[in-house]
Amino acid sequence: MIIDLRSDTVTRPTAAMRAAMAAAEVGDDVYGEDPTVARLERRLADDLGFEAGLFVPSGTQGNLCALLAHCQRGDEYLVGMEAHTYKFEGGGAAVLGSIQPQPIPHAPDGTLPLDALAKAVKPDDPHFARTRLLALENTWHGRALPQDYVVEAAAWARSRGFGVHLDGARLFNAAVASGRPARELAAPFDSVSVCLSKGLGAPVGSVLVGSAAAIRSAKRWRKMLGGGLRQSGLLAAAGLYALDHHVERLADDHARAARLAEGLRGAAGITAVAQHTNMVFIDVDAGRLRALDEHLRAHGVRASIGYLPTVRLVTHLDIDDAAIERAAEVFRAFPS
Ligand SMILES: *Cc1c(COP(=O)(O)O)cnc(C)c1O
Repeated sequence: MIIDLRSDTVTRPTAAMRAAMAAAEVGDDVYGEDPTVARLERRLADDLGFEAGLFVPSGTQGNLCALLAHCQRGDEYLVGMEAHTYKFEGGGAAVLGSIQPQPIPHAPDGTLPLDALAKAVKPDDPHFARTRLLALENTWHGRALPQDYVVEAAAWARSRGFGVHLDGARLFNAAVASGRPARELAAPFDSVSVCLSKGLGAPVGSVLVGSAAAIRSAKRWRKMLGGGLRQSGLLAAAGLYALDHHVERLADDHARAARLAEGLRGAAGITAVAQHTNMVFIDVDAGRLRALDEHLRAHGVRASIGYLPTVRLVTHLDIDDAAIERAAEVFRAFPS
């Protein structure tokens, strides 16, 4: 039995979720005839306080549809230098939308400082791309963004006439960790994408919410990107099940991540440990990374090594208390 801590995307649907999927009422969603997809889209739009929602196969596609809906060819969006929508989506906005990213260095808490944002805005002049959108991410590397900052940054963007998009892949982790309703965290934005296939444990899918006009535009882009699905109510049913049963339990993932972090402090070769929501980040001497990876694999533990400057461990639905104890033991057995 492998203890897979690489990401919360590795979860498999539970028996009860599979039963909900099997029982789903379906139709052809490209014709707008899948009642379960419609229910999921309505549910998240209502819960988060938006006019409309759009079920998409992945978070990457949800973000790209949003960027394409907000920006035209030759426009640019302000985005974190380590943000998913800049760094981890294959450059899709530039490749497929001719939209230029303007990356901004993050402050240590994940925010994009307002003075840095203001400096990056381009004057209205043919030399420059047209600045059109601010894109934020919550949680960012597991951190829930300070909501005061989010409100202030969104108000600033609005005052400049920019749209505001949230990559809320793990919005519900932020809500559970901060004790604020997801609706409040989403309120400052024009559009929000939420992943069902991360901590919520669905096998596939994200939902983009926004104004009726933005979602109409995003739906056109989704079709062009190959994301118009047919009897996708099978997948939407897993999302609905996840929203009913797997949101509050995210607190368990956060508590287990905190316990894992505690268990790793002082282990040989580990120089620093940080934990936010369901993620633990550890610094390891660069020269020992390969040896650590081999040690973990030999003992049935997987960690995310190589994508970020630090090693990342993520707790999720398939990680119980015993797995946490075992993983911590394996780390502590790493020879110094
Ligand atoms: C996972 C993730 C996405 C979307 O990922 P997909 O794998 O395309 O579903 C977007 N943003 C963040 C922050 C993510 O972690």
